[in-house]
Amino acid sequence: MKNSALLLLSITLFFSCKSNQKKKDETATENEIKTVTVNKDYFITENIIGEIKEEMVNLNGVETLCYVFQTNSQATEHQMGPWCPRHIDDGKEKAGIWFKDGKVYDVTGHFIANLDEFYEDEAWELFRDDGSIKVTETQEECEGAAKPDVEEAYRNHCVECLPEYFKNQITTYKIPVTPTYQEASQRFGRGGIGVAFNGVKFDPPAPTHAILAAHTIAPLDDHGGHVNPHGGYHYHAVTGSTKEVEQPDVHSPIIGYAIDGFGIYGLADKENHMSSDLDDCGGHSDNQRGYHYHAGAPGGNQIIKCLHGIPGETSIQE
Ligand SMILES: [Zn+2]
Ligand SMILES: [Zn+2]
Repeated sequence: MKNSALLLLSITLFFSCKSNQKKKDETATENEIKTVTVNKDYFITENIIGEIKEEMVNLNGVETLCYVFQTNSQATEHQMGPWCPRHIDDGKEKAGIWFKDGKVYDVTGHFIANLDEFYEDEAWELFRDDGSIKVTETQEECEGAAKPDVEEAYRNHCVECLPEYFKNQITTYKIPVTPTYQEASQRFGRGGIGVAFNGVKFDPPAPTHAILAAHTIAPLDDHGGHVNPHGGYHYHAVTGSTKEVEQPDVHSPIIGYAIDGFGIYGLADKENHMSSDLDDCGGHSDNQRGYHYHAGAPGGNQIIKCLHGIPGETSIQE
């Protein structure tokens, strides 16, 4: 049905070139960006508390039909962690990843031991004389370290918070059922920029400036996630660990939704090609999927760069 309508449109466009007046009208249609509604069945039922409801929410002054649902931000289709190694002899299987200048690094014990060279700064010293690594080992230590003004005692630490500390926190998502494309992009506010199908939040870039200024690192696990005291487990990188929905064509799979209701897709398509026409936010449009985003590379500390739709809302009950 859709395909025949599309074919008709392209035929009309083809013939309309002969008539100037008609051409003008068709150009207007052509410039309209297609939007596709959210498919709530993509979310994994066991990761959602209760059910996905429909509610009218005031977004930007407009009453907008939204899907509203809650999660505990606990990934179940992959293990969460590990994050920090415990000894400078530990291999990469004992820890997660870190990133710099677009590159991903395994946080091995050796990596921790050489942070002074890595950042060309002698003040880095995350390990003791016996080779053990200074890690935040309790919830209190995690809370003292995982914040913008890192407490003095946790400077020069590998920061690790465990998902169980915050497993009772509830994150509520309100996502427009039908996204609204806006020509002007907007930066993220506070809160999540989107959500994976397992109900775990996609967050804005990790605040590496504050983290590194305190000579701390807060590794992501191999799945691109770590934990903070406000909302628990969340992703800063897409590594292909969560549920993906394959596309009928060569396009990369959909991996979740942005908070504005547009789909977020994997970086590379089935032939390992990356899109070359992405806009300022990391999005583009095609006939099958309408406007949508592609996740950035894992080393970039940025899943999407901004929003081209009117955002819904996230909130956290701590
Ligand atoms: Zn984070
Ligand atoms: Zn695409």
